Amino acid sequence: MSEQPACVVHKFGGTSLADAACFRLVAKIVAARPEQRRLIVVSAMAGVTDQLVRAVHVAGKRDLGYRDIMATVGARHRQTIAELLSAEAANQLCDAVTRDLEIIEEVLHVTTVLRGYSRNGLELVSGYGEVWSAQILAALLRQEYGDIDWLDARDVLTVTRTDTGADVMWPESRARAEAWVAQRSGLPRTLVITGFVASTDEGLAATLGRNGSDFSASIFGTLFDAQEIHIWTDVDGVMSANPRLVTEAVTLPTLSYDEAIELAYFGAKVIHPATISTAVERNLPIFIRNTFRSDHPGTRIQQKSGATDQVKGLATIESVALINVEGIGMIGVRGIAERLFGALRDESVQVLMISQGSSGNSICFGVASAQADQARNAVERAFFAERLHGQIRRIDVTKGCSILAVVGEGMAGKPGVAAKFFSALGKAGVSLRAIAQGLSERNISVAVDAADTQRALRAAHAGFYLSKQTVSIGVVGVGSIGSTLLRQLSHRLRSLKQEFDIDLRVRALASSGRMLLSDHPIDLEQWRAELDARGEPTDLTRFAAHVYDDQLPHAVLIDCTASQEVSELYGTWLERGVHVITPNKRANTSSLEYYRRLRQANRTVGAHYLYETTVGAALPIIQTLRDLVQTGDEIVEIEGILSGTLSYLFNSFDGKRSFSSLVTQARELGYTEPDPRDDLSGTDVARKVVILAREIGMTVELADVALEGLVPKELTKGPVSEFLAELPKYDAHMEQLRREAEAKAEVLRFVGRVGRDGNASVALRRYPITHPFARIQLTDNIVLFRTTRYNENPLVVQGPGAGREVTAAGVFADLLRLASYLGASL
Ligand code: ADP
Ligand code: ASP
Ligand code: MG
Repeated sequence: MSEQPACVVHKFGGTSLADAACFRLVAKIVAARPEQRRLIVVSAMAGVTDQLVRAVHVAGKRDLGYRDIMATVGARHRQTIAELLSAEAANQLCDAVTRDLEIIEEVLHVTTVLRGYSRNGLELVSGYGEVWSAQILAALLRQEYGDIDWLDARDVLTVTRTDTGADVMWPESRARAEAWVAQRSGLPRTLVITGFVASTDEGLAATLGRNGSDFSASIFGTLFDAQEIHIWTDVDGVMSANPRLVTEAVTLPTLSYDEAIELAYFGAKVIHPATISTAVERNLPIFIRNTFRSDHPGTRIQQKSGATDQVKGLATIESVALINVEGIGMIGVRGIAERLFGALRDESVQVLMISQGSSGNSICFGVASAQADQARNAVERAFFAERLHGQIRRIDVTKGCSILAVVGEGMAGKPGVAAKFFSALGKAGVSLRAIAQGLSERNISVAVDAADTQRALRAAHAGFYLSKQTVSIGVVGVGSIGSTLLRQLSHRLRSLKQEFDIDLRVRALASSGRMLLSDHPIDLEQWRAELDARGEPTDLTRFAAHVYDDQLPHAVLIDCTASQEVSELYGTWLERGVHVITPNKRANTSSLEYYRRLRQANRTVGAHYLYETTVGAALPIIQTLRDLVQTGDEIVEIEGILSGTLSYLFNSFDGKRSFSSLVTQARELGYTEPDPRDDLSGTDVARKVVILAREIGMTVELADVALEGLVPKELTKGPVSEFLAELPKYDAHMEQLRREAEAKAEVLRFVGRVGRDGNASVALRRYPITHPFARIQLTDNIVLFRTTRYNENPLVVQGPGAGREVTAAGVFADLLRLASYLGASL
């Protein structure tokens, strides 16, 4: 006895049959499975059902525009046929299509005359898309692979119409299927079948309701005893959320039938719920596959859930109305709910969710907006007496809502899931209008305002699917520090993810002129080329909006510029919940009011503002100070050499060379700003003093710092060259100061200081050669903290306080500090 080949249903959706190229791809997928008996169920070409339905509606309004619609539909099919088939086969099929179009024209004409359409007319016309696509595919397969037949489901599948679709009449359908097979002396090895369409027992054209071709697949799988059903579409499988709404969605390898039904019911359009209920009875596994990536295994839907993950997916239903029935009549009266939902059922209103207040004096339920009035009338009629006697006080209808549902087999009895769900929604600022937990505990659903739908979905998805430490990053300024930071990051990204579950995603970069925005993490090895190729003019408002993506749990903007303009945006960013990290001193040294606003954001919206590198680059100065203050130490005085440039100048000023020649040399070595007066003026040091002073709670403005700079008054203006040429005139004075110090075994140091006495100053001072300030090297920074605890011997932090590598590393360290505030255990 020869072994029966496995019988498999392959259903191709409209998106898989959009044009001639798609048909060829489908034919290839079919041909690649010669060992199977293949039942190929097809949808209409993408968009065709919509057009047919629209033509009927338009005709019903006496609008002759239906002719244009039908002309487009006809032309598209003829074109596809011509592209795919030999002239002879094409002519034959085009004639058949023309005959069908004539029937449709008659129906639509009558529709205009009658000024309205019947369900018969609508179902007849809207099913032709499947009739045509099945014939096209069958003809193509016949042309390439031999004699292949097609089955018009209207001849076999018998249904009774329901409000939203159809119920299969199994015995009748089975009998017709058997008759069909008998006529052909057996079930063909390859058979193309129209999806979506059927007939009533009286022979009227019917359809299975929108998206019903999936359902056709499991019906024919049942009728012809298939072992598997493969639904081919344009995504890799059932995903954790609609990928058009959530770019972070992932493909689910397995789902239980129950989970799939629930996801489909709550709006995951990728599969029709009825498909699954039919497959369950015969335990047929259903695979959801991608026509355009046929090597991807897709999703397997089966009896068991498969994975231990608690949450499988999220889905939304839009255009929902909430109806709230309220009154003392609801309390403790048994049977109220039964009567209520019975009345709705009688009116064919489909209830999407039910939520009952624990006090029992109100019931809230959700229905499709289009059924809201019907639902209200049904409730009013059913509770006429109760309303009359005031037991039911109000029936409120709120339109403009959506339902968001979380689905997963393992959720039962796990309170953590609900907590995670609600906290993600709360953090995204989404308010909940109603909450319901399905009786199966396989889903939790909430009703939200329509405007919040996508934000709610994305935030909830992030809460379940992403690491808590997933951070969307935007870097403003890609000069020396910014670009070094990107390089340092690129080396560490992978291990941070693997070892600590910290998922750092640089999604935006900006220079002063151009910016690069990307939904997916930017390749940090290639960012420069990408910025050149795909960059657009910098617009920091759009930049920030992009970084703040509600799909990702956290966002941070890193300002690596020295720009005042950028620093003025921190307030808005932080108040929106975006964290800010910067080595830019501008913000912290602008008005005290602005500084307080930035620090405040942490308390109000939880946004962190980190700026360790504003003083002494990566040296732990701010953090040390914070630790001292927060553990209750009292700061007596902070004193420090806070400028690498000035540190270098005075470390080198030993009498062998004049001070002016040291300045010129330092400039040539790149140790100074292009205009050395920016360093010598001491303003930069004064800014750092302000930052330190404010850190210990002093109310200091930059103008309050007593600043004695090193630029002679006469030389503050004019070009750099002139300044450098004139500077030697002051060498004698500098040399005299140095000698006076030397005579007392002291050195000159340019120092910033802030004390408990409330004074903040920056000046050239003298220190004994035994003092820590006298023993530093090169461009070292050094800071002394004199405190109540460190009083005999001060706490000293010393080391290189400038340079791109260390500064970028300091910014990186702030980023990791942020990750640990967000929950990472580093
Ligand atoms: P077909 O034409 O193949 O029947 P559909 O448009 O009916 O395709 O269904 C596929 C679409 O379903 C996807 O393109 C996607 O936009 C949408 N979709 C909604 N929810 C999900 C989900 N959870 N997983 C995958 N796709 C989904
Ligand atoms: N063509 C039908 C529709 O668009 C059925 C389907 O594609 O599943 O609703
Ligand atoms: Mg579909």
